Amino acid sequence: MKKTLIALFLLSAVAVMAQKPRPDAFPPVPDTLSPKAITMATTLEEMDTWDKYPTYEVYMAMMQRFVDSFPDLCHVDTIGTSVQGRLILSLAITGSDLNDMYRPEFFYSSTMHGDEVTGFYLMLRLCDTLLRSYGTSQEITSLLDRTRICINPLSNPDGTYRGGNNTVARAMRYNANYVDLNRNYPDPFGTDPLEPLQPENEAMINYVSQHSFRLSANLHGGSEVMNFPWDSYTSFEQLNEHSEWWKQVCKRFVDTCRLVDSQRFRDVTNSGYIVGGDWYVISNGRQDYFNYYHNMREMTMELSTSKTLSTTRLDHYWQCQSHALINYIKEIHNLDDSSSVGIVAPVVNMRAYPNPTTGAVTVEGTRGTYHYDLSDRPTGVYIVNVEGRPVKVVKH
Ligand SMILES: [Zn+2]
Repeated sequence: MKKTLIALFLLSAVAVMAQKPRPDAFPPVPDTLSPKAITMATTLEEMDTWDKYPTYEVYMAMMQRFVDSFPDLCHVDTIGTSVQGRLILSLAITGSDLNDMYRPEFFYSSTMHGDEVTGFYLMLRLCDTLLRSYGTSQEITSLLDRTRICINPLSNPDGTYRGGNNTVARAMRYNANYVDLNRNYPDPFGTDPLEPLQPENEAMINYVSQHSFRLSANLHGGSEVMNFPWDSYTSFEQLNEHSEWWKQVCKRFVDTCRLVDSQRFRDVTNSGYIVGGDWYVISNGRQDYFNYYHNMREMTMELSTSKTLSTTRLDHYWQCQSHALINYIKEIHNLDDSSSVGIVAPVVNMRAYPNPTTGAVTVEGTRGTYHYDLSDRPTGVYIVNVEGRPVKVVKH
């Protein structure tokens, strides 16, 4: 049965590749979009109708307005800066008690390929919806009170604003050094990337290292498919240990979107999901790096067949995907080890060494040694997530 399934997977992957060029593997075709298909919001008020992309300045102003409007629910972290000095930001959202360390941390990150801007828009609208719904929607209030949600709407701003801060119409896949950021991560299985680690990725690695994200998604466009680990291997070569869990999560996401539009997520597989390597194998991608080295489950969501979606289609994609995007955050409470959040689970071959003087914690895992800085945290008990397992650390 399993062999048949694998064969079907491989056959479907081969069939797809025969029918359609791999959209993630080719350089972008520049400037093919009619200028009329892209409308930019040049003021905050113009963005309020959610039928435009923001200019870079409006994007910055939106992030600031989230904090100004909901200071008790969120704050902005600067992940880093791009090659050209644009800011890479993350909005950290919680319900009551911003500093509650016991909540599992979730992460959405979008548009590391600068021209794949649907996710950029969706993430901004998601931030807005989560914040506005706190206290009025029982569902959202409960989610925010139990979860720390970090949202990075734009991880390659130079690529997105290649044509200048006032338009995304000339966006490109690469960063300003013309490096594909999704081929630039240290590879746990293969070779080193061709180019030096880029500032955008170095900043992202540092940011993730400072958190204990348990679940995340990296948003792309150009196809509609849920792409889960591994990217470096086909499922025949090496199955991810959580592959059955991933399939269920992906199916729930796709099914939810299809309640609104039954034609979505059909251009790669009919199921709407696939093991990354069964679609096509890549090296030095972000997904495998974070799954392997950073103790978190990250998948790649390809959310729109068009990379730079016409602004007239943006609202429809939000209507299709908003519930699925919110439900995916909830999956953090359904991890097969989630019952051990806040409770010490048996940890095999791991030891934690808290240093009560400096607040630093060193954990020896099976794949490496991990350092956590608790120096700015109050004394107490903390759970750090090491290789998918919770480790209790007591700071005295
Ligand atoms: Zn992409």
